[in-house]
Amino acid sequence: MTDNTLVLTDLHRHLDGSVRPQTVLALARHFNLPLPADTLAALRPILQVTEPCASVEAFLAKLDYQVAVLGNLDAVHRVARENVEDLALEGVDYAELRFSPAYMAGPHGLPQDGVVEAVVDGVQSAARATGVKVNLIGILCRGDGEAACQRELDAILSQRDHFVACDLAGDELGFPGERFVDHFRRVRDAGLNVTIHAGEPGPPQSIWQAVTELGATRLGHATTAVQDPRLMAHLAQEGIGIESCPTSNVHANSVADYEVHPIRQFVAAGIPVCLNTDDPGVSANSVPFEYRMARERIGLTDAQLRQIQHNGLQLAFLSDAERAELRARKRQARG
Ligand SMILES: [Zn+2]
Repeated sequence: MTDNTLVLTDLHRHLDGSVRPQTVLALARHFNLPLPADTLAALRPILQVTEPCASVEAFLAKLDYQVAVLGNLDAVHRVARENVEDLALEGVDYAELRFSPAYMAGPHGLPQDGVVEAVVDGVQSAARATGVKVNLIGILCRGDGEAACQRELDAILSQRDHFVACDLAGDELGFPGERFVDHFRRVRDAGLNVTIHAGEPGPPQSIWQAVTELGATRLGHATTAVQDPRLMAHLAQEGIGIESCPTSNVHANSVADYEVHPIRQFVAAGIPVCLNTDDPGVSANSVPFEYRMARERIGLTDAQLRQIQHNGLQLAFLSDAERAELRARKRQARG
């Protein structure tokens, strides 16, 4: 389903939503923490989604198990390393991993700066070992409120050179983007790119706000954009990319099923869209799985999927020279 002559990317993947179930179990045992089950077989259905959740919130609640076991910075380092190892196993050439320092630090009161350092170091060492190229996106966890998000941004900017962008994630309806205009001014002033979780489940207005007030040049999900033809035209005209994550949208019940996923309308409208996993720790998915579902369930053609794979590299927060290097590496690997 994926074209192995093209660079394969995942631009929307939460590092703190991609903890292996066996690692959740191992860390819980190591730190002597309670879990609702003590075997991998019994734990999987609790950690992972097997059928659509009642809501986005119910989906997000599943994520909490993955950070609840981060008892120290070594655990954070391990999770960061394993994220990159899993990308390599899926055949991904380039990924942008995103994480919320506050979300990872929260359960055990770890220092946010330390969490950022541990993630940076873990990702870098595994990237060297595997050859996967990885950049980081810092998340502001909107549900923590404006003041906490400023502190979270402080932690991200303390390692500014190790990030390519910032994102806003969490409770979109309860904490709308209007409350984070100052934060994203700081992000842009620091020279970082902006991508925003918008339009899942927020209305089209939330997507407009992300683009016009927060400075988003890419959007996470944006599934409700199809309700506003003027917005669709604007995204296409401005080349604003949509990071689509169909399995996650189905699991979070923000899209009824693959067959009605709006990615087909995005493609038809000429919006640059790419395929991504979001939270493999919950959805048990992978990049190749998303391409397979896009073909078999959503009904995209091979030509459309090749264009989507191409878009992944074009939308990446990389320089043209870095893109060229990834393409050259791919050619070399094929001999
Ligand atoms: Zn996401």
